[in-house]
Amino acid sequence: MYYNQKTEVFLDGEWLKASEATTNLYSQTLHYGNGVFEGIRSYKTEDGVRIFKAREHYERLKYSAEVMHIDLSYSVEELETLTYELLERNNLEDAYIRPLVYLGENMSLEPVQNTHVLLCAWEWGRYLGDKQLRVMTSSYQRPNPMATHIQAKVVGHYTNSILATTEAKQKGFDEALLLDSNGYVAEGPGANFFFEKDGVLHTCPLGNILSGITRQTIIELAEELGFPVVEKFFTPEEVYEADGAFFTGTAAEVASIQTLDNKKFNLEWEDTIGYDLAKAYQNEVSKRQYKNFELV
Ligand code: PMP
Repeated sequence: MYYNQKTEVFLDGEWLKASEATTNLYSQTLHYGNGVFEGIRSYKTEDGVRIFKAREHYERLKYSAEVMHIDLSYSVEELETLTYELLERNNLEDAYIRPLVYLGENMSLEPVQNTHVLLCAWEWGRYLGDKQLRVMTSSYQRPNPMATHIQAKVVGHYTNSILATTEAKQKGFDEALLLDSNGYVAEGPGANFFFEKDGVLHTCPLGNILSGITRQTIIELAEELGFPVVEKFFTPEEVYEADGAFFTGTAAEVASIQTLDNKKFNLEWEDTIGYDLAKAYQNEVSKRQYKNFELV
């Protein structure tokens, strides 16, 4: 699904066949979960392939590496250029790109000097699909920001996401919504959350969530289109009264939510601000700002 015999990946300065690349079994990332990654999308535009917000994603990767004591020697510009080459080598246009910075052989709990950089990509539909989602409030909270760097995209954080999604699916829902350690709504397992009430969008402030690049894009688009956005803490009970709600994320894009804990929102999705923003987001990602594989 992610690669075939022809697929090439970038690994530590070399272009290798995905089917032939190997990793060390004593990697600290494999045993303890310290590694950092990104999820990026490229889109086919009239002027060629464009990676959406490549700089923001690689700046977040640099931040994630730094706070986790991981030495990432590539610059944002180098990573961007390599990613365009990755797409070109694999003939990819609308693609999902996965940079992963993982650590070498070391069974201690100390920082590891030996860092590996993997860039790979594949074609991937919308992560949460296109249907309206039935979401449940998770019994799992997001990790306490005093226990980890919650704004970093760390490999090990995703055990929390896997538990929440698995619980939701086992209970017959499509996805989970996690609370923070104070009982306020935080985010989905792999996406940020917005709800709409009386023409105003609400999302929680930064602090307990990943600072989503799609979240920021949606806030900016809402402001451009004249929809007010409020960043404040709220409970699931407030969301039950909402007119509409949606998740945002690079992989999921804008994913509509039909119910939270089996409570249906007041408006049909097509009548919500979220619907307009989903369309505006699609326009934004396919904007003509880059020449064929060339950064401007
Ligand atoms: N929260 C979590 C936990 C995520 O994994 C993601 C996906 N990266 C997001 C939010 C959305 O972030 P972005 O819009 O930058 O993809």
